[in-house]
Amino acid sequence: MPCAGITKVVTIGWHNAPMSVPVSQRSLAYLSTVPVTRVSGLSGKRGTALEKGGIKTVADLLLHVPRRYVDRSTQVELANVPVGEEVTVIVIVQKVNVRRVRKNLTIIDAVCTDGVGILNVTWFNQAFRAKQLTEGTEIALSGKVERYRGRLQMKSPVVDVLGSSSESLITGRVVPIHPSVGDVGPGHIRRAMHNALLRSMPMSDPLPESLLDRLDLMDRQAALGSIHFPEEMGDLAAARRRLVFDEFFRLEVALALTKNQRAHTSVGIRHVPDRGLSETFLSGLPFSTTGAQDRVLGEIMDDLFSEHPMHRLLQGEVGSGKTVVAVATLLVVVAGGYQGAIMAPTEVLAGQHYLGVTDLLVGAGMTSHPVRDQASLFDVAVSDVADSEPDRPVVVALLTGSNSELSTQIDASRSDVLEAIASGGVDIVIGTHALIQEGVDFAKLGAAVIDEQHRFGVHQRISLKAKAGEQDPDLLIMTATPIPRTLSMTLYGDLDVSLLDEMPPGRMPVATSEISKGAMEPVYELIRSEVAAGRQAFVVCPLVEESDKIEAVSATAEHARLAKVFADLRVGLLHGQMKPAEKEVVMDAMRAGEIDVLVATTVIEVGIDIANATVMVIEDAERFGLSQLHQLRGRVGRGEHASYCVLVADPTTDEGIARIAAMVATTDGFRLAEEDLRIRGQGTVFEARQAGTADLRIADLLRDLEILVDARREAFAMVGDRLTLDDEIGREVEAILGDRKDWLFVS
Ligand code: ADP
Ligand code: MG
Repeated sequence: MPCAGITKVVTIGWHNAPMSVPVSQRSLAYLSTVPVTRVSGLSGKRGTALEKGGIKTVADLLLHVPRRYVDRSTQVELANVPVGEEVTVIVIVQKVNVRRVRKNLTIIDAVCTDGVGILNVTWFNQAFRAKQLTEGTEIALSGKVERYRGRLQMKSPVVDVLGSSSESLITGRVVPIHPSVGDVGPGHIRRAMHNALLRSMPMSDPLPESLLDRLDLMDRQAALGSIHFPEEMGDLAAARRRLVFDEFFRLEVALALTKNQRAHTSVGIRHVPDRGLSETFLSGLPFSTTGAQDRVLGEIMDDLFSEHPMHRLLQGEVGSGKTVVAVATLLVVVAGGYQGAIMAPTEVLAGQHYLGVTDLLVGAGMTSHPVRDQASLFDVAVSDVADSEPDRPVVVALLTGSNSELSTQIDASRSDVLEAIASGGVDIVIGTHALIQEGVDFAKLGAAVIDEQHRFGVHQRISLKAKAGEQDPDLLIMTATPIPRTLSMTLYGDLDVSLLDEMPPGRMPVATSEISKGAMEPVYELIRSEVAAGRQAFVVCPLVEESDKIEAVSATAEHARLAKVFADLRVGLLHGQMKPAEKEVVMDAMRAGEIDVLVATTVIEVGIDIANATVMVIEDAERFGLSQLHQLRGRVGRGEHASYCVLVADPTTDEGIARIAAMVATTDGFRLAEEDLRIRGQGTVFEARQAGTADLRIADLLRDLEILVDARREAFAMVGDRLTLDDEIGREVEAILGDRKDWLFVS
């Protein structure tokens, strides 16, 4: 099939490039070594602007696909335009006039024509239009056409500049509108794209024909031709499908190779427990494990008993019982003579884990570890027990101290703890991610649990090496963020996934409602009646973008206000500017039931576990993202009591309205995550931006799930057990993903 749509025009050639380039050099891999500035029309400052915008090579350029298309075949003539309806009209600018009416008001008037009719167009305060809309420019205008004194007019329509009306590239039926890059607009990009495409043809296709046939995929050259210059809109779907497949395929090939390389280069530990610590622990719990916990523990045990190091992602809603799974896992490791570590994103969360884990162990009679009475959260205590004693208690230590305020408190014992870790006197160490990053010396680290809570977007490359020997410890990453399948197949695609998809029995879904800011009285009543029944409430203050300080100030003010509203109740305050020790005093009081209403910033978002709290009020809820709202709601409904979440919101944007509606409609985190993808669209998924999926240029994680499933299957089958691919596909993956591969994976 010839390259659709681009046969009519004859501007050819890269700047300074020889006219005939061997076909072998027309692969995407090769094109990603050709600087974009070699494309005709991009040798000067436009090329530099593209480079700055991340389009550095010809391959980058070719993968910069139009954001939309103007379809001339459906264009409406001015003579027939339906007044009052949303339409797109294509016209030529005849005259532009800029009027500065007063200081803050500039009006741009343009007279446009489609050759027969006349259209007057007005924009307010868009002075730049004067430059953009020079006489003779052809533009597509989208908006409502009105009739005023017999004349047709549009106010502030959306403008797509097609180009100079004499230009051949916009005379086709479908005009592509590429996203601007810096100052370089769609017209220039279109011309450059055309040149680049012609110059790179014929382009080789790295995928075997059998695969293309089987999956009914278009060949690559045709796909690139059609996506940039379709003959008709009907060409787009198949072209896009092929390019989306390619994009996922490259990613999945890289993931498959990484997985193989890891399996090849690392030798894991075959854990052989010499006593039933894990069993003792599980049978000592005051509840029986859920079916999901049993299943997941089975999956983990298979990993622990094999010699391949575990790389497993454990997904489970807040409250689904991940901590129990983590402790049971580490106890197997401890029983086999190794140490375990649990790492949390912050010191406060590490402290929470320490409390949670020791509570569970004390409850099961497995440690006499001093917990709350003697040691405050940040004290460090290590029991002094002989190493070899078979029934010795499990020794758990909290290691903190990267924080200066904390370290003055615990400096003395920090070194003791470090020593105990190095000598093997500690079985389970709990700390922040710095445990590993700072290279704390373990006697025999056998497994690490990393709790990412919902911050999975920022996970970094984590390198674990056992101190004893060359074996790699097992790794379990826990996340409470429900991750849509597409994301777990890309973001975490080299990990095995376990799912805790069952809540412990007796949990009631949190009743969620929306209320307007002006009507807070029912919310206050709810809080009063819950407190009267012995329960507690959280009130989360509005999010203040980028500033902990301002947020703290506003929380302090809200606390003062609510202290008056609830004059007879005990109202506490917690925000990010407080010192860790101060926060801890507040949290202890909350836990002890000495605070009725806790006014807080989002510092309470994660890790707070207070079963007696039954009300979560979120102020200005429309300003929070869905995953954050879900996390906040997860702070209540953790005990046996019915719980409530009130979203105080007056959303005005479509997104805001959709988010609040989704929260009210469901408490299912997975559905919310899918909904979040749908609402926010691609590129901005959670915090995925830092984590690599934002590098998807064409694919859409929600809409393209089926293609992703195909691409993953084919990629893993093609890679097989190979460690590298030295064919064109391998070169392409290397060339296109390049350095970015590094932070895509956990290794
Ligand atoms: P997560 O870490 O997934 O948020 P946790 O492990 O902290 O959840 O568990 C939440 C609460 O539920 C804890 O109080 C825990 O003791 C309790 N829990 C865990 N598993 C069960 C179970 N199978 N049955 C009843 N309660 C459980
Ligand atoms: Mg937890």
